[in-house]
Amino acid sequence: MISVAEALDQLFALARPLEVETVPLLQAHRRILAQDVAATRDQPPFDGSAMDGYAVTEVAPGLRLKVIGESAAGHGFYHPVKSGEAVRIFTGAPVPEGATAVVIQEDVTRDGDWIIIGDSPEDNTHIRPAGGDFKVGDTICAGRVIGPNDIALFASMNIADVPVTRRPVVALISTGDELVMPGEPPGRDQIIASNTLGLHALMQDLGAEPRLLPIARDNEASLKTAFELAQGSDLIITIGGASVGDHDVVANLAPQLGFEQSFYKVAMRPGKPLMAGRFGDAMMIGLPGNPVSAMVCGHVFVAPVVRAMLGLKAQPAPRRTALLAQALPQNGPREHYMRARLTDAGLVAFGSQDSSLLSIMGQADALIVRAPKDGPRAAGETVDYLPLR
Ligand code: AMP
Ligand code: MG
Repeated sequence: MISVAEALDQLFALARPLEVETVPLLQAHRRILAQDVAATRDQPPFDGSAMDGYAVTEVAPGLRLKVIGESAAGHGFYHPVKSGEAVRIFTGAPVPEGATAVVIQEDVTRDGDWIIIGDSPEDNTHIRPAGGDFKVGDTICAGRVIGPNDIALFASMNIADVPVTRRPVVALISTGDELVMPGEPPGRDQIIASNTLGLHALMQDLGAEPRLLPIARDNEASLKTAFELAQGSDLIITIGGASVGDHDVVANLAPQLGFEQSFYKVAMRPGKPLMAGRFGDAMMIGLPGNPVSAMVCGHVFVAPVVRAMLGLKAQPAPRRTALLAQALPQNGPREHYMRARLTDAGLVAFGSQDSSLLSIMGQADALIVRAPKDGPRAAGETVDYLPLR
C-alpha cells in the first residue's frame, strides 16, 4: 500500500497535459489560460481626463481663462491650448496638447465663454497618463483560471480570442448489478447510482467535459462494452468493483481488457481500494464504490489530476487550517479524511465516519486531514482540512 502523497505523484506522472485551443473571449470564463497573452495597445491610449472640468495650462486662484473648445469621450479636441485658454473636458476625453491639468468643474465659475478658477482649486491634475493602466506587450502569464476580472482586462487589451487548454473528456463508469440510474424504478435488491452523478458535477466544476456512460454490470462483456464506449476520452473513471471479491469486476477483469496498472491500494480512509494506470491512450482511475469513498477520492485525487491536465500546477488539493471545536481520538495507520462541519467555534467531526453515509457527506463543509498515527487532538488545536464548499 502506498501513501496518499506517493499515489498523487504517480497520478501526476500518468496525467498528460492537453492541447491548446482558441475560444472567443465570451467563452473563456472559467477556462485555463494555456499561453501567455499580451496587450495589443496602451490603455488609456492617450492622456485622458479623470474628471469633468476644464483642461488648462496653469492653475491659480482667481485666474480668468477663455474657453476655446470642448473635448468629450470619443470626440477629442485636437488644437493646442495656450496660456490664458481652457478647454471644456469630460471624463475619458483626450487631454488637449499643451494642457497640464484639469480643473474640476466644481472649482470653476463659468461666465459665458470664460471661466474663473475658484479660491482653492485642487492640487490633483486629474490626468490619467497614456499607458497608465497597461502598455502594449504587458503580459498575463499562462496557467491561471480565467475569471470575470480577467475577462474585463483581456477585453480592454483587445484580446478577442483566448488560448485555453482543451477540456479533458472524462468517462464515468459505474459498475454493479445492484445499480439503476436516478428516476428508474429499482428492483427490490437494487439501489440508485449516486457516485457517477456526484463526480459528474465535480468534473463540471473543474472545467472538464464529463461523459456519463451506461452502468456496467458485474460481468466481463458489460465492462468491455463500457470501456469501448469510453474510447476517445482522456480520463476513464470506474467506480466500484475495486476490491478483490468474486464480483469485483474492475480489479479482476480490467487488466485483461487493456488496463495497465500503476498502483493499487492507498493507505487512506476512506478510499483504500483505489487503482490507477493507463488504458490505451487514456489515463484510468478506479475508484472505490462506497459513495463517500468515491467522492473523497474525487476531491483528493481526481480533482488535482484534472487540474494538472488543464495546465495548472500539479499539486495536492489546497488545504486550509482551522481550530478544532471538539477533541479527536488517536488516528489509525492510514491517512484519514474526516467529514466535519465548520462552525463559528471551529471544526466538528461527525460522530459516524462510515464510508457509505452520503447524508453526512452532504452536510459536511470540510474533510479534516489526519496523518497516519496522528495522536489524539484536543479542542482548540489547529488542524488541516480540505474545504468542500
Ligand atoms: P463495490 O466496490 O463494487 O463492492 O461497491 C461498494 C459499495 O458501494 C457497495 O455497497 C455498492 O453497492 C456501492 N456502490 C458501488 N458503486 C456505486 C455507485 N455508482 N453509486 C452508489 N453506490 C455504489
Ligand atoms: Mg460492485
